[in-house]
Amino acid sequence: MTAATHSTLFPQVPDSADAVLDGLDPEQREVATTLRGPVCVLAGAGTGKTRAITHRIAYGVRAGILQPSSVLAVTFTNRAAGEMRGRLRQLGAAGVQARTFHSAALRQLQYFWPKAIGGSLPRLVDRKIQLVADAAAACRIRLDRGELRDATAEIEWSKVTQTVPADYALAAAKAGRETPRDPAEIAQLYAAYEDLKRTRSVIDFEDVLLLTVAVLQDRHDVAEQVRAQYQHFVVDEYQDVSPLQQRLLELWLGDRDDLCVVGDASQTIYSFTGATPDHLLDFRVRHPGATVVKLVRDYRSTPQVVHLANGLLAQARGRAADHRLELVSQRPAGPEPVYTEYADEPAEAEGAARRIRELLDSGVPAAEIAVLFRTNSQSETYEQALADAGVPYQLRGAERFFDRPEVRRAGSALRAAARFGGNDSLLDDTVDLPSQVRAVLSGEGWTTEPPAGSGAVRERWESLAALVGLAQDFAAARAGATLSDLVVELDERAGAQHAPTVQGVTLASLHSAKGLEWDVVFLVGVAEGMMPITYAKTDEQIEEERRLLYVGVTRARDRLHLSWALARSPGGRPSRRPSRFLKGLRPGSGTAGGRASGGGAGGVERGSRGGGRGAAAPAPRRAQRTPARCRVCGRTLTDAGEMKLMRCEGCPSDMDEGVYERLCAWRAVQAERSGQPAFCVFTDKTLMAIAESVPEDERELARIPGVGMRKLNRFGSDVLAICAGQEGVGLDADD
Ligand code: ATP
Ligand code: MG
Repeated sequence: MTAATHSTLFPQVPDSADAVLDGLDPEQREVATTLRGPVCVLAGAGTGKTRAITHRIAYGVRAGILQPSSVLAVTFTNRAAGEMRGRLRQLGAAGVQARTFHSAALRQLQYFWPKAIGGSLPRLVDRKIQLVADAAAACRIRLDRGELRDATAEIEWSKVTQTVPADYALAAAKAGRETPRDPAEIAQLYAAYEDLKRTRSVIDFEDVLLLTVAVLQDRHDVAEQVRAQYQHFVVDEYQDVSPLQQRLLELWLGDRDDLCVVGDASQTIYSFTGATPDHLLDFRVRHPGATVVKLVRDYRSTPQVVHLANGLLAQARGRAADHRLELVSQRPAGPEPVYTEYADEPAEAEGAARRIRELLDSGVPAAEIAVLFRTNSQSETYEQALADAGVPYQLRGAERFFDRPEVRRAGSALRAAARFGGNDSLLDDTVDLPSQVRAVLSGEGWTTEPPAGSGAVRERWESLAALVGLAQDFAAARAGATLSDLVVELDERAGAQHAPTVQGVTLASLHSAKGLEWDVVFLVGVAEGMMPITYAKTDEQIEEERRLLYVGVTRARDRLHLSWALARSPGGRPSRRPSRFLKGLRPGSGTAGGRASGGGAGGVERGSRGGGRGAAAPAPRRAQRTPARCRVCGRTLTDAGEMKLMRCEGCPSDMDEGVYERLCAWRAVQAERSGQPAFCVFTDKTLMAIAESVPEDERELARIPGVGMRKLNRFGSDVLAICAGQEGVGLDADD
C-alpha cells in the first residue's frame, strides 16, 4: 500500500473548526457555513455534494454550533451511509447519526414500539417475493416469475406512495403504470399479501417506514420526543426521495426548518419505486427563504470521463434533464473510455477479468476497481470469471463489516491479546504491530495466501485480511502504536460502523453504486435489452435507464471501460446491439440527432475469448447461429454455470470420468505448487466442461468457457496431454 493511501485512510483530523473548511471551494464553503435554515444544493455528479454536507456537519459540530447527537444525516444505501460515517469520523465529528431512511426509522420504531403499540416489533421478512407468491396462491392467481417480480414491484410502489389496495387501480392508471395483470387482480393480490403478513405476524421493508409515519402522526408524545432528540437534518441524494420518505422527513422536522438537502436530478434512478426529483427541484417553492447553492466543478473524474457523462446528459429528456448541469472537470487529462464488443456474455466477463488481472499486476489496488452491472443476475458470470482469473472480489461491500461473526471473533481475540500483553508488545519489542496482529489472527483462520474453497470461506478470509491491512496502515500512520491502541481504534470504528478497506474488486449493481467512486470502473452489459432493460417501455422509463448509465459513468475517477456482448451465450445468435445511449458518443456510432458531440479518439475494440486484448479476430463460436442449448435435452441455457457446462446441471453428463479425475489430481498439484486455491487454476465447472468435450487442440480448448489466454499459455499443453490420455502430466518437474 502506498504512502498516499495511508494518508487517505488515516488522515490528520483537522485541528480546528476552521481547518475543516480547508479544501472546500467557495460554493462548498457556503454550504458548510450556512448552518441554520433550509439549504438546498443542486449539483452534478462528483462536484462534492457529499463532501460539502459532511464538512458542514463537521464544521457545525467542531464550532460547537451543532450538538452531534442532535444531527440526523440520511442517505439512500447502507454503503453510502457507511461511507458518510467514515468521513465524519475522520473530520472529528463522531457521534453524528448517519443512516438510511430505513435504518433510522427501524431504530426509532424498535425503541417506541413497546410504548406506542405494546409488545415487541414483529419480525421483518427478508424474502418478500416468497410472501407475494404465497398470497397469489391463496387467491388462486397464477403468476410466472416475471409477473411475480412485477407484481411485487407494484405492491412496493403502492406502499411508498401510500396507496391502499382499494385505490390501487385508480392510482396506477393515474400514474400511467404498466401493470403486469389486470389492476383489479393486482389490488386483490396486494390485499391478500397484507392479510398474510398479519396472519404470520411479520412486517416488510416498506412497513418500517409506514409504521414509523403512523406512530409519529398518531402519537404526539412520541413525535415530540423524536423532535427533541433531532434538530438538524441533512439528506443526501434527495432526488430519490419517495413520497413516504418525504412524509417521514416532514414528521421529523415538525414546524422547524433546519434542513439541508443535496441532490442531482440527473441521477434520479428510483422513480420506478415512486421516488421523484420534484421535492428537490421544488425545494425553493416549499421553502421560499432557502439558500440554494449550485456546484459545477467536477473533482472526481478526468475530462475524458466527464465528456462522456455530459454527452449522455445532452441527449436526456424530461424534467430532470431540463435542470441538467454541465460538469467541468478539475482533473488532469486521463485515458479515453475504452469500448469493447464481445461475442457473448461469458467472453465479456472473461475479457473484463483479464483486464482487471493486468491492472492488479500493474499495481492498481483491487479496492479501487469496480464492475457495475444493470441486474444482480449478471453478477454470477463475473464472480466466476474473476475467480477463474484469480482476482479477489467483494459482493457485500463494507456494510455491517463489524457485525460479521468472523470480525467479532477477531476483535475478541485481539482484545484478549492486548490485555495479556498490556500496553507493551505481545511477544517482544522486536515484533511490530502488524506481525502481532497477524500472529493473533492466524489463530482465527487468517493465512498468508487466500484459501481454496467456496465463496463463504473466501469472504471470511477477506474480512481478516482487511483487519491485517488496517493494522499495517495504522502502524504506518502512528509510529509506536501498540496493540491496545489498535483495539481502541477498532472499537471506535465499530461504534461508527467505519469499515476498513476490504481488498477485493467490487461487484455491484448500478443502483447500489450511487454516491460511490473508484479509480477504474467496468460498465458491463451496455447493450440494448440490458441498458435500457427490456421492461423499460415508456419514455420516462427509458430516460431513467439513461440516468442509470450516467450514474455508472460518473463513478469512475480515471479509467472507464464499457462493454457489451452480441449474444447471451457462446454459440448464440449475435443479435444484440450496443446501447442506444452510446449513439454519437462511442467512436463509429454516428451522431445522436446531431445533439451530442463525438466520443473520444480510438475505436471500439473487439474482445475475443482466448485472443489478445482488443484482438480483431472474432471468437471462434461467433460463427454458430444457435443460442446456447443443453447438449443433452436441448433446453436454452441462461445460467452462467450451465452455460459453462453447455448442458443443464440435472441432465446426464457424458463426461470422460477418467480424464476428469486426472484433471482434478493435476489441478491439486498445480494449486499446491503455486500456493493458490484450486479454483484459481480452473473451477470445477471448467474441468467438467474439458472432460466432457475432451479437446484435441488449443483451438478447441480455447473455446471452453473459463479457459482464457493466460490459462491457455500456462496450462494448455498439460491439459491437452491429459486429454490425449498421457499419464503423470505435470507431476515431475516444477514449472
Ligand atoms: P455524487 O453525485 O456522485 O454523489 P458528489 O457530488 O457527492 O457526487 P463527492 O463524492 O462529495 O461528490 O466528491 C467527489 C470527489 O471529489 C471526492 O473524491 C471528493 O473528495 C472530491 N472533492 C470534492 N470537492 C473537492 C474539493 N473542493 N477539492 C478536492 N477534492 C474534492
Ligand atoms: Mg454524493
